[in-house]
Amino acid sequence: MLPDRAILHVDMDAFFASVEQLDDPSLRGKPVLVGHDGRRGVVMAASYEAREFGCHSAQPIAIAKRNCPHAVIVPGRGRRYHELSRRVFTILEDVTPVVEPLSIDEAFIDVTGSIALLGEAPEIAAMIKRRILGEIGLTASVGVAVNKFLAKLASDWEKPDGLTIITPECIGGRVAELPVRKMWGVGPVMETKLHRLGIRTFGDLQRLSAEEARQRLGETGVHFRRLARGEDGRLVTSDRGSRSIGNEQTFGTDLGMPEQVRQILLGQSEHIAQRVRHAGLRGRTVSVKIRYGDFETITRATTLDRPTDRTDLIVAAARRLFDRWAAQRFRPVRLIGVSVTNLQAAGAGQMDLFADADDARHRRLDAATDAIRERFGRRSISRGIRG
Ligand SMILES: [Mg+2]
Repeated sequence: MLPDRAILHVDMDAFFASVEQLDDPSLRGKPVLVGHDGRRGVVMAASYEAREFGCHSAQPIAIAKRNCPHAVIVPGRGRRYHELSRRVFTILEDVTPVVEPLSIDEAFIDVTGSIALLGEAPEIAAMIKRRILGEIGLTASVGVAVNKFLAKLASDWEKPDGLTIITPECIGGRVAELPVRKMWGVGPVMETKLHRLGIRTFGDLQRLSAEEARQRLGETGVHFRRLARGEDGRLVTSDRGSRSIGNEQTFGTDLGMPEQVRQILLGQSEHIAQRVRHAGLRGRTVSVKIRYGDFETITRATTLDRPTDRTDLIVAAARRLFDRWAAQRFRPVRLIGVSVTNLQAAGAGQMDLFADADDARHRRLDAATDAIRERFGRRSISRGIRG
C-alpha cells in the first residue's frame, strides 16, 4: 500500500461520439453511433443519447440500429480523434510528466508531486476538467483516489462529466456496495462463479479472509479480495522509458532570424522548468533540437554539474546551446524544441549542500512566477531577454 499517493484516472466521455457532436452541432442532443454502417460494422462509440436505447461500443451496428432506428451513424475519423487526444494529453502533461495512457482517451496520472503547487488532488481534477472543457470543448470524468484501482472505479461512478473522490473511508461504504462485476477481470463467467459462492458485492469479498479467498478461488481470489479492500500498490508509470520533460514547436514558415528562434526557445525553457518543478523533479541534461527547412534535424545537449529545477539555469543552458550553434551555422529553422532529461526526484541528490543565497533567491523568484502563472495563465508573465 502506498497511502501517500494521489492518483487521478481521467476518462473522456463517449470520446469519438462526443468529438462528432463537437464538430457538427446538428448532432448535439441526438443519438450518434460512430462506426462503419455495413453488415459487419461495429459500434466504435455511442453517444449518451444512443446509450439510452441500449446501444454501446463493440456492439454490431445492425443490432444498434434495431435498438435505435433513428440514430445517426457516422464513420470514424481517426486523425481527428488522435489530434484531440494529443491535446488532452498535453493538458495532463502540464500537470505532471507522470502520465500513463491506457488508451486514446483514458489515462492515469500521479499528481502527488503537484499538490504543493497546484492544490489538493480534487482541485487538480477540477482544473483538468475545466481546461479540457474550456480549451477543447469536451467533457471528461475524473476519479481521485490513493491508488489506480480506486481511481478507475471512481471515474466510472458518475459518468458523464463526473468528478468522484474515493477516500479510504469509502471502502467500507460505497465501495462495499458495488456488485462484483465492477471488479477488474470479472466477466460474465467469473460473475456467475462468484454468485454461486454467495459473493455478490465488494463487501462480500472484503469479508473473506485471505485463506478463504485462496481456498475458494485460488490466487485470483486473493487478488480480488485485495483490490476490493482498496489495496493496490501498482505505480503510475509513464510510457516513456527514460522520462523527459520537453516541448517543441513547428512553424508554418521557416524562422529566418536567430532572435525570433531565441525568443521561442526562452519561452519553451521557462515552461519546461515550471513543469520540472510541478513534477517534484530535477534534471541534469538540457537538450535543444533544431530542424531546418529541408528536415535535417540536429540535437545538441549539455549536462549540468548538478540536477536542477531552476528556470534561470535551464534557460541559460538552452540558450548557450542555441547560441553556439547559431554562431557557427545559423540556417532558417522549421522546428525548435527543448527538453530536460536525466530526471530525479527533487531532494534525492546532494543539491541542498550547495544551496546558497543566490540559489535561494532564484528559487523564491521561480516560486513567485509559478504562483502568478497558476493564477493568471501561462502567458501572463515571462522573463525579458537579457544581454
Ligand atoms: Mg472514455
